[in-house]
Amino acid sequence: MSYTKKDFIYEGKAKQVYTTEDPNLVIVYYKDDATAFNAQKRGTVADKGEMNNKISTLIFNYLIEKGIQTHYIETLNEREQLVKKVDIIPIEMVVRNYVAGSMAQRLGLEEGAKSPVTIFDICYKKDELGDPLINDHHAVLLGAATYDELKLMYAMTDKINAALIDLFMKANLILIDFKIEFGKDSEGNIILADEISPDTCRLWDKDTLKKLDKDRFRRDLGEVSEAYHEVYNRLQQALKK
Ligand code: ADP
Ligand code: UDP
Repeated sequence: MSYTKKDFIYEGKAKQVYTTEDPNLVIVYYKDDATAFNAQKRGTVADKGEMNNKISTLIFNYLIEKGIQTHYIETLNEREQLVKKVDIIPIEMVVRNYVAGSMAQRLGLEEGAKSPVTIFDICYKKDELGDPLINDHHAVLLGAATYDELKLMYAMTDKINAALIDLFMKANLILIDFKIEFGKDSEGNIILADEISPDTCRLWDKDTLKKLDKDRFRRDLGEVSEAYHEVYNRLQQALKK
C-alpha cells in the first residue's frame, strides 16, 4: 500500500504533518526553514529539509537495529517520511555530554568541556512560554508525564545517547548535546518520535572542533548548508563500515 498526504494537520518551525489513508499513520514533510532563539531569528537553509530527512532516516534505522522503539516506518521521497501518529509528550528531553549552549550560559561555564556525567535536562514544550526548563515534579504537576513514564523516557534516552555517541564517533563527530521527543502510539506505547538531525544535535568535528550543526545558523558562522551535507555524507560512510 502506498500512502499519500491527505489533510494538513500542523505546521511547525521545521516540518509539516499530514494525515494519510491510515488514521494511525502520518506523513512528516521536512522544510528548509530554520528558526532560532524561540523563532526570533528566521531564515532558510538550502537543502536542509532534504538533508534532515535523509540524516533522520539513517539514524532512525540505526536506532531500530539497536532495539529502540520509534515512530519511523519508511522514507517516501526526498522530503517526506511515513511515521506512526503519536500523541507527543510535551517534554523536550535534552542530553548533554559536553558543556554548550543554554547550559553554558545559565551556569557561567565555557563551551566545550566534557561533562563527567551525562546531563539530562527536560523542557516543557510550550512555544508561548519559550520551552522553559522544568524538573520531573513540574512535569507531573503539568500532567505531561507520570513518574513511571519519565523513568522509561530517561532509560530509553540513555540507551539512545550511547548508541548515537558510537555512531557519530565513527563519523569523526563529537555528540555534544541533543534534543529528542517521545510520543504515545495508538496502543499507548511510549516511542521515540520527531527527528534527529543537525537541527536537534550539536556535532563538532573530532579533530578541528568545527561546528557542523544548527549553531552555524544560530551564530551566523556561514557554510550552513555545507555542514548539513557534510554530516549526511559522513554518516553514510560510517554506516558502511
Ligand atoms: P515545532 O513544533 O517544534 O516547531 P517541527 O517544525 O519540527 O517542530 O514540527 C513537527 C511537529 O510534529 C512537532 O510539534 C512534533 O512534536 C510533531 N511530531 C513529530 N513526530 C510526530 C508524530 N509521529 N506524530 C504526531 N506529531 C509528531
Ligand atoms: N534543541 C532543540 N530544540 C530546542 C531546543 C534545543 O533541538 O527547542 C537542541 C539543540 O540543538 C542542542 C540541545 O538541544 O543540540 C541543547 O540545546 P540548548 O538547551 O543548549 O539550547 P539552545 O542553545 O539551542 O538554545
